[in-house]
Amino acid sequence: MPFEHGDRRDRVRAALAGLDADAVLVTRLVNVYYLTGFTGSNGALLILAGGGACLATDGRYRTQSAAQAPDVDRVIDRAVAGALAKRAVLAGVGRLAFEAHDVTVEQHGLLLAAAEPASLVSLGRVVEELRMVKDDVEVALLRAACAIADRALADVLPHIAPGRTERAVAAELEARMRAYGGDGAAFETICAAGPNSAVPHHRPTDRVIAAGDFVTLDFGARLAGYHSDMTRTVVVGRAADWQREIYPLVAAAQVAGRAALAVGADVQAVDAAARDMIVTAGYGEQFPHGLGHGVGLEIHEAPTLGTTATGVLAASVPVTVEPGVYLPGRGGVRIEDTLVVRPNGPELLTTAPRELREL
Ligand code: ZN
Ligand code: ZN
Repeated sequence: MPFEHGDRRDRVRAALAGLDADAVLVTRLVNVYYLTGFTGSNGALLILAGGGACLATDGRYRTQSAAQAPDVDRVIDRAVAGALAKRAVLAGVGRLAFEAHDVTVEQHGLLLAAAEPASLVSLGRVVEELRMVKDDVEVALLRAACAIADRALADVLPHIAPGRTERAVAAELEARMRAYGGDGAAFETICAAGPNSAVPHHRPTDRVIAAGDFVTLDFGARLAGYHSDMTRTVVVGRAADWQREIYPLVAAAQVAGRAALAVGADVQAVDAAARDMIVTAGYGEQFPHGLGHGVGLEIHEAPTLGTTATGVLAASVPVTVEPGVYLPGRGGVRIEDTLVVRPNGPELLTTAPRELREL
């Protein structure tokens, strides 16, 4: 088994002492996967502080759950959270920690009733915080997912030309990522040409690429549950003066942001390292999003690198660095890499060239 699920559950147990809780009920599916290896679409996990864990799922996943999570008890019941709450009470649990950020008001009412007479306390984002720091197997999967995206981009760049549509380029990128072993796109591939490149999360359309366009490609591959994330911006034909002004600015800010990634670095300071350059150049208002985000089992996960984010970076935390400058009606530039924070400087996982390319 590549992942140490038992060790991960022990780390959750260690957090329970501070909450004075006897057990934790994990309902976020991505967290259930992280703690057990179970990939079904309906599941929850009960971890008892004193030892022992139980996975609940429904009859569709009876065989799959036994194979994927052989080291935990199982309950087969469609109402996974309620079934585990009842089991917790039978096990003598008096205070049950639950993932308040994942539970609707309606689900909370059902959970309260099922857990009677035990009381509920919020676990907070304990599992998400544990997930921030990746082990070597996780980083290897991210590295492989990033390499797939790099190879796909190298194939597709020569085919970006006047007359092709955003949709066609995005589809080709996704097809190449699958051809190189990706399980699929990490998220809906962005191909934004001309004025559309000034929209940070533009969705590909039938717009035909024209000479003089900035073309922004923001995409990634998914591999064994892990996501890569990369953005490159190119110019079709010769770059105009305004393009020659903002591209090097974004590129320099991106270098500064990457250089600021260090063990112990404040996440706001990392954002500022890149943002200050863009603000100084007079384009602060044209950089309307955070510098980056954690990436792993989710495309966007903790930590956040941004002006209102809090916390410091630890070793082995993968993050993106993606400053942008967007000029409405004209076009925009974003350059994004996925990196891992390391004691001796960040490790780059996406390596496609970053200098201004005129296709
Ligand atoms: Zn991206
Ligand atoms: Zn991103």
